[in-house]
Amino acid sequence: MSNWVEGTVVAQRHWAGMLYSLQIEADIAPFHAGQFTKLALTIDGEMVGRPYSFVNAPSVRPHEFYYVVLPEHPLTPRLCRLGSGDRVYLAPKASGFLTLEQVAAGEHLWLLATGTAIGPFLSILGTGAPWQRFSRVVLVHAVRSAADMSYQDQIQSLQERHAGQFVFVPVVSGEPSEFALAGRIPKAIADGRLEARAAMKLDAQSSRVMICGNPAMVADTVLALEQRGLKKHRRRDHGQISVENYW
Ligand SMILES: Cc1cc2nc3c(=O)[nH]c(=O)nc-3n(C[C@H](O)[C@H](O)[C@H](O)COP(=O)(O)OP(=O)(O)OC[C@H]3O[C@@H](n4cnc5c(N)ncnc54)[C@H](O)[C@@H]3O)c2cc1C
Repeated sequence: MSNWVEGTVVAQRHWAGMLYSLQIEADIAPFHAGQFTKLALTIDGEMVGRPYSFVNAPSVRPHEFYYVVLPEHPLTPRLCRLGSGDRVYLAPKASGFLTLEQVAAGEHLWLLATGTAIGPFLSILGTGAPWQRFSRVVLVHAVRSAADMSYQDQIQSLQERHAGQFVFVPVVSGEPSEFALAGRIPKAIADGRLEARAAMKLDAQSSRVMICGNPAMVADTVLALEQRGLKKHRRRDHGQISVENYW
């Protein structure tokens, strides 16, 4: 199998600041919600690829990827210059274990993301599985400033479609905001503010937790959850926590 599949950009969206999303048509293998593929461009004669999570649910086309431009780095400043009809390369097969297939049965599903890592959770929430498997689903999105809170229309439509089953908790660390919890996710778990806001208990018996994004947030959140008796899920030693680090 060839290393790369040629895709065509359908649309590029600029959300705010350095935040963008790309919609791409490409003939790649089916994937599971929560997985990632690689996007690549030829830079100085070499193919440069990086992993990006699917935002679209597996049944939805075009494929969508949500990303932040890091000006000093090779790929993202070039990705954001692409427009409709441009070519971009994708890995032919998806990878990754941040999927509901890897999560044990439970009562409540908690999805905790920083920044662009809300993508894989939107893909999962776009499928039927979380709504069939869990009585309540909480999506927590932590960003620095309120303007970085993308995909609000999609989140609002989930709230309408799954009223009573879905809770969205915004967390803003870098400025005061009326609608969001302040600070970082690990602190909001430790001091009980996250549970209070979601009106649900975060414990080993009822909760299954998926965490994605900034590795410092992932590590500190795992610690905060371990304090409450939860542990990482492994194939041979079932726990409640699944994680994916973006770097
Ligand atoms: C499994 C996986 C899935 C990923 N999915 C996404 C995604 O859906 N969207 C996305 O934007 N990125 C995602 N990333 C990160 C992405 O692969 C690239 O590292 C990132 O886009 C920067 O690419 P670059 O070539 O411009 O810089 P690189 O040379 O790759 O720069 C890496 C550095 O940039 C910083 N960084 C990387 N990613 C981010 C980020 N998302 N937010 C803030 N700082 C970051 C870190 O300090 C990191 O050391 C994912 C990474 C992994 C491992």
